[in-house]
Amino acid sequence: MKVYNTLTRKKEEFVPIEKGKVGIYVCGPTVYNYIHVGNARPMVVFDTLRRYFQYKGYEVKYVSNFTDIDDKIIEKAKKESIDFKEITKKYIAAYLDNSNELNFDEKDTIHPRATEYIEEMIAFVKGLEDKGIAYNVDGDVYFDITKAKDYGKLSRKNIEELQAGKRIEVSSEKKNAMDFALWKKRKEESEPAWKSPWGMGRPGWHLECSVMSQSILGDTIDIHAGGEDLQFPHHENEIAQSESLHDKDFANYWMHNSMITVDNEKMSKSKGNFFLLNDIREEYDLEVVRFWLLSVHYRKPINFSQEVMQATKNGLERIYNGKKKLIELLANAKTGELEGNLSEEIDQIVKNFEVAMDDDLNTADAITAVYDLIKFANTNLDENSSKEIIEKTLNTLNKLSDVLGILKREEKEENLDEYVEKMIQERTDARKAKDFAKADEIRDKLLEMGIKLKDTRQGVTWEKIK
Ligand SMILES: [Zn+2]
Repeated sequence: MKVYNTLTRKKEEFVPIEKGKVGIYVCGPTVYNYIHVGNARPMVVFDTLRRYFQYKGYEVKYVSNFTDIDDKIIEKAKKESIDFKEITKKYIAAYLDNSNELNFDEKDTIHPRATEYIEEMIAFVKGLEDKGIAYNVDGDVYFDITKAKDYGKLSRKNIEELQAGKRIEVSSEKKNAMDFALWKKRKEESEPAWKSPWGMGRPGWHLECSVMSQSILGDTIDIHAGGEDLQFPHHENEIAQSESLHDKDFANYWMHNSMITVDNEKMSKSKGNFFLLNDIREEYDLEVVRFWLLSVHYRKPINFSQEVMQATKNGLERIYNGKKKLIELLANAKTGELEGNLSEEIDQIVKNFEVAMDDDLNTADAITAVYDLIKFANTNLDENSSKEIIEKTLNTLNKLSDVLGILKREEKEENLDEYVEKMIQERTDARKAKDFAKADEIRDKLLEMGIKLKDTRQGVTWEKIK
């Protein structure tokens, strides 16, 4: 499989550090707001990369962090006069809701939170300070970029030009204009802060990702990914600090997804064309958003508009209908022979799918292969087809759509049924044990999920209220 490596600006054959295993780190959100379509793109793209690696038999360790301490979080907490943890708790829960609806594989994902790794972060900064690469100015610790080897190698920026272009603020305590903060001194008593050798303070954003990546995946990892807007300075600084500390490569492959435009204009808060997933889901299932995000190659800009979303929804329905028809045919089909020529046609479609995905995750062409499979079924299969060929078509459709993370509607309904039944049982048990607090807690939790319980004489029934 080939992937485009931003570091070398080339498509390269993917070679894992350890045979049969892949470690992926994807920069996650700063949790102070609801997520928008721009946040959804790396989630969907790299979840699909993970699924394809799994399809090829790899064992994948997938890490995506939550930045749960940051200026923006502190600002918001201050404005709302609540603890910063209230903010992060709320938006992590909202993120997980959206992510589940996007069919992002949450159960196989590790979500480290920055505040859980403060000790490791302090040790990391201490290590850089001991090597003479970081310097402390009255409680703020900076990374000296002149000490880094090849600073700017990922973004290929001319650092001297950048340095010259950046005005040094009068009050600056930095040695070089481009030096960045590893550790930030607490400015006010009320700010969240941790004890460190440099006084009370908190980690800088770039540091967080370096430390969480290293702690969970090791000093050198296979793939580090994120949106292209993170290349500079975020990823550049991650490389600088990690490679300076460990004297090892930080990541072998750097993958970046391109941006989203809205009605062919750049999406921005100031233009007011900023779409939250929570708004879109009023109109479209987020599976449609996922399918749309995969309809264009991840390194190309993708446009969001009502027309595109409607067309995507129709396309997805066509695939759902194809699957439904196959299930119906299978239910009535008789055992016969696997028609060789038809079977070969399916194999060819699978091959096309794999060729597309092997070529730097060309999901646009992979989707074409899925449509070809539906067309194949509509053209060739009917009540007289053998059970074998129908089964092969359906299994193939399930396998390919699983890689893309689509056609999950029924599976999700079943999972929900199972979950609710389990919770109802737990509630009944709690009531029998006279643990009414727990019983109420379960009822409230379900209510929050939009599930209303009704106690009837025949037992407990439930309904969806949103
Ligand atoms: Zn990051």
